[in-house]
Order: sequence, then C-alpha cells, then structure tokens
Amino acid sequence: MAFLSDTLSRVKPSPTIAVSNLARELAAQGRDVIALSAGEPDFDTPENIKAAAKAAIDAGKTKYTAVDGLPELKKAICAKFERENGLHYKPSQVSVGTGGKQILYNALVATLNPGDEVIIPAPYWVSYPDMVYLAGGEPVYVEGPMQTGYKITGEQLEAAITPKTKWFIFNSPSNPSGAGYSREELKELTDVLKRHPHVWIMTDDMYEHLSFGDFKFCTPAEVEPELYDRTLTCNGVSKAYAMTGWRIGYCAGPEALIKAMGMIQSQSTSNPCSISQWAAVEALNGPQDYITESRDVFQRRRDLVVGLLNECEGIKCPMPEGAFYVYPSVAGCIGKTSAAGTKIDSDEAFATALLNETGVAVVFGAAFGLSPNFRISYATSDALLTEACGRIKTFCAGLV
Ligand code: PLP
Repeated sequence: MAFLSDTLSRVKPSPTIAVSNLARELAAQGRDVIALSAGEPDFDTPENIKAAAKAAIDAGKTKYTAVDGLPELKKAICAKFERENGLHYKPSQVSVGTGGKQILYNALVATLNPGDEVIIPAPYWVSYPDMVYLAGGEPVYVEGPMQTGYKITGEQLEAAITPKTKWFIFNSPSNPSGAGYSREELKELTDVLKRHPHVWIMTDDMYEHLSFGDFKFCTPAEVEPELYDRTLTCNGVSKAYAMTGWRIGYCAGPEALIKAMGMIQSQSTSNPCSISQWAAVEALNGPQDYITESRDVFQRRRDLVVGLLNECEGIKCPMPEGAFYVYPSVAGCIGKTSAAGTKIDSDEAFATALLNETGVAVVFGAAFGLSPNFRISYATSDALLTEACGRIKTFCAGLV
C-alpha cells in the first residue's frame, strides 16, 4: 500500500504470534490442537504479586507515574542487580518500559542512524531484526549452529565487527534455542568486544532465572567490568514471575542512554501501567520461591521433551541449558513426503504439515534465522507435552 512508510516494507509480522493465531483459529474450528508455540509460562502470577496490584488499585495508585518508572521500582531494580548480578547501578541509570520489548526498541531507536549495523547471533528472537529495521539500522547475522550448541565463537564475532557496528545483541539463555553461555564462553566474546570500543552490548537477560542443572547464568558487564560503560543490561518480570500480560521490562546502563530512552518513551507511550509497576515492586522485593519452584518444573519438562524428541526418526534435539524452549534439527526429515502427501522441503513445510496433519503447532526455524529446525515451547503440562511428542513421533515415522 503506497500510503505506508518505506520502513514498514522491511518489517514482517511476528511469525510466532502468527503461528499461535493459526493454532487458535484451528482450535476454534473444533480441531484438536496442541499449541507449543507461545513463549510464556503456563503458571499463574504468584498470589503475593496479584495482591500487591489489588492493593495498588485500592490505594488509588492509578495515576500517571514518572515516565520511565516509579522511584520505588527503580530502587527494587537496583537492588536486584546488586543481589543477583553483582552489578551496581543508580536509579538514574535505570529505565522501566512496557515489557522488555519496549526497552529493547527504545534503545535501538535512541541510538541507530541509517546504515548502522547490529550484530545478532542466529538463531535469534524473532523481534530483534525487525526492531533494528524499524529503527533504521541493518541486522548482521552470525550463525551459531547446532554443532556448537547454538552458540557463536569469539572468532565469528570478531569477523562480523565493522566500523559501522553499533550494537552486539546477546541473549543467554536464548529464545529460541535455550542455549546458555558459560562464563568461559561469554568471556571469549567479551575479550573480543574489549578490543572494539565503538561496539556497545545490549544483553537481553529475560531468561536469567530459567537456568538448569550445572549451568550458571552470567551477564556481560559482570563477566567483564571493563564493558560496564557500554553495556545495556536488559531484563523483565514477564518470564521470571509469570507476568507476561502485565508488561513490565527494565534495563540499566549509562545515564545518557537511559535519558534518551526516557525521552522517546515520554513522547510515545509515557509510563508503563502504574498497577503493573507496583506488582513488579512486589515481584522483585517479595518472596522469591516461585523462581525456584518454576525452574524445577521447567527443568523436568525439558528433560522429558528432549528424551521424547530424540526418539523421533529424523529429529536431533540437543539438551539446552535454559529458557523453556528446545530447538531440534529436522535435517533428517528434509526431502521426504508426509503421510498426507506434503513434500517436506523446508522447516516451514515440516511445521505446516505437522500442524495440518497432527494438530501440533510449533514454530519453524527459518523464523529464527537458523534452519532446518523448529522451536517447541515446553511451557505446558507434562500430559500435553507427552501427547504432542507422541504425535510428532508418529508423523516422523510416516515420512517416506
Ligand atoms: N526478549 C526475549 C528473548 C523474549 O523471548 C521476549 C518475549 O518473548 C522478550 C524479550 C520480551 O518480553 P516482554 O514480554 O517483557 O516484552
């Protein structure tokens, strides 16, 4: 449509939301659908957090707040960074937005000029490239293949850096692969970044608390304090406290950048929902039992799903370190034909045939920039996961 901006022609709708919508439509038509496409915990928000929100409403805390976050919330965020990450930030270095999504978007809009490059390891969260485009920049992809645990090496990062590189976006544990960088693996990247002072680091630590087994979460400014002055440490309450609908994300970094992000927010959305902010204060300051309880459940489900998927012909599923996703390869299924006669010539064809023929909704790997794979979100019950993996197994066994 000629009326729309040129920028918009470079942007596509979120494929994960598109798959979830399609699954919902099929279910509404009466199909027996198991949707493993949505990236949100299936648990309810903890009671103490809901109570804090109700109390905020009753106390009339329903007015505009400071644009980029209540002082009480900024204080709680500073305490969280100190307690959990050993990072010291002042409230003036903190910004609160409507979800982690708005935080990342504000930071890119605040900093990118036309032609500026942003390095994004693939597979990546679907929104990074489109946000970069919307902000006028150019995504530069670096592939982390299955063989290296879906992680990139220092050498690869070094090779991708040019004089135009503005940001390196880092996400560990990762959506979609669940891959988590150990301190040594991250150090390899921060050593490279130390040598390129014009490159800033945007670390998306949204899945920090979903780290399993021996894997220990770490974040760039903590691993390499020399990078503190050019790191934006981003996080949020959505995944950590089952608060996806409340829409609270936050970050901390250099004051000048935080100020610029606040200015963008002041001229677009203003403050995030006041009630949600009070709920987030309780999430960060209140009891933290939910985090360990949900982590244990997700770890058990991860083990279940990886085991079941590796029984499927043509599928290989490595064991991820965190998040609530697995990202199996379907290389062994490509070139075959499904029982209903669909040629499986790509991961998108695999996912479409799987949905049409078995009712299991997964997101195809091309959406995340690394193929041939698919992503399963295992944030659903053990019974549904077992049923879905059983259907995938039958589907794969039927490929000829
Ligand atoms: N970053 C990653 C890697 C995500 O997976 C998501 C949500 O799916 C977000 C950021 C955004 O989270 P929020 O719901 O806080 O906007």
